[in-house]
Amino acid sequence: MNLLRDPAMLILGDLVGFPTVTSESNLDLIEYAANHLESYASDLRLTHDVDGQKANLLVTIGPLVDGGVVLSGHTDVVPADEGDWTGAPFVAMRRDQRIYGRGTADMKGFIACAIAMAPVFSEMSLNRPIHMALTFDEEVGCRGAPSLIDDLLAKGPKPSAAIVGEPTAMGIVTAHKGCYEYTTTITGVEGHGSQPDLGVNAVHHGARFIARLMELGYEMKGRAPAASPYDPPHTTISAGTIHGGSARNVLAGECVIEWEMRPVNRADARFVLAEIDAFEEELRSTMGPDTSLTTVREGEVDGLENDPSSAALDLMRELLGTEKTGVVPFGTEAGLYQMAGIPAVVCGPGTIEVAHQPDEYVGLEQLEACLDMMERLGEKLSNT
Ligand SMILES: [Zn+2]
Repeated sequence: MNLLRDPAMLILGDLVGFPTVTSESNLDLIEYAANHLESYASDLRLTHDVDGQKANLLVTIGPLVDGGVVLSGHTDVVPADEGDWTGAPFVAMRRDQRIYGRGTADMKGFIACAIAMAPVFSEMSLNRPIHMALTFDEEVGCRGAPSLIDDLLAKGPKPSAAIVGEPTAMGIVTAHKGCYEYTTTITGVEGHGSQPDLGVNAVHHGARFIARLMELGYEMKGRAPAASPYDPPHTTISAGTIHGGSARNVLAGECVIEWEMRPVNRADARFVLAEIDAFEEELRSTMGPDTSLTTVREGEVDGLENDPSSAALDLMRELLGTEKTGVVPFGTEAGLYQMAGIPAVVCGPGTIEVAHQPDEYVGLEQLEACLDMMERLGEKLSNT
């Protein structure tokens, strides 16, 4: 498979050159990928965001039948502060058997391998298809993938497994916690600090809200599953920021709290959200007229729940020839596939330690291992 290393490297270089930071459009990269894949595709579909500035690309190679495998990668990257980098972050550079550049590990290396494999896949006589799913806005709460997955299920044949190529150093990852993000805004009634009963102090009610989050966080420790693979083993809740009030002697008119929950399973998530709902009702009833309390969902990235009988897990064990699996502390799109009824695992080249960092890189041996895995996948889908 070494022959494919060079095309994969060239494609990776091109992909790094598109500065697809989440705040920017990814359409140039999507067009590039579509141009590369078009002639090998039996189906090619785009789904856009509401402004039409970003797109998901779904390309199918092989017959349009059930039982295919999705290779899924997000096209967006986190920002890069050029001053912290040895080279230019959006110019791929090869050094010491590594390719440096923003997104090389997270996760354009995986996407480059998939695109480089397209001509190989198209020459194999695939009995079941390979779907390449390139998404937008993963880094800000997996906002792109849901529309691609909806489209896939609505129009396409149903895949039997999804491989989400986040950097795991090509290890098989079967589970991660979810990451649910919220902003709670409490509007009170301003007044003089000396007359607390003539207004409604939003900061005081914010403090009550946070106290409830802390209680629930404590309660979650007791609900940790017996064989939890995570550290810490339980669902966590944390308020990261609180902003409110204008002066010491003024009753605060507003209090904004940004908080998150990282559930170990969906039952915990449902439990916490129901408790928060009930507590919000209780708080509202004590706040009086001309006040409000609202919680906005910023993003709800579903966790990937360990499923020992997952078809995706069986597939990866076969392709990589190992029984070894692990969990990761970060969220991915794999939980979305699982929720949609498509068994999923996380497995991709590069390491998470260098992702989101200056001088991010992927090792050439990682790209080779990824290409090998994909080649075996193509062979398997041709033989069974
Ligand atoms: Zn990523």
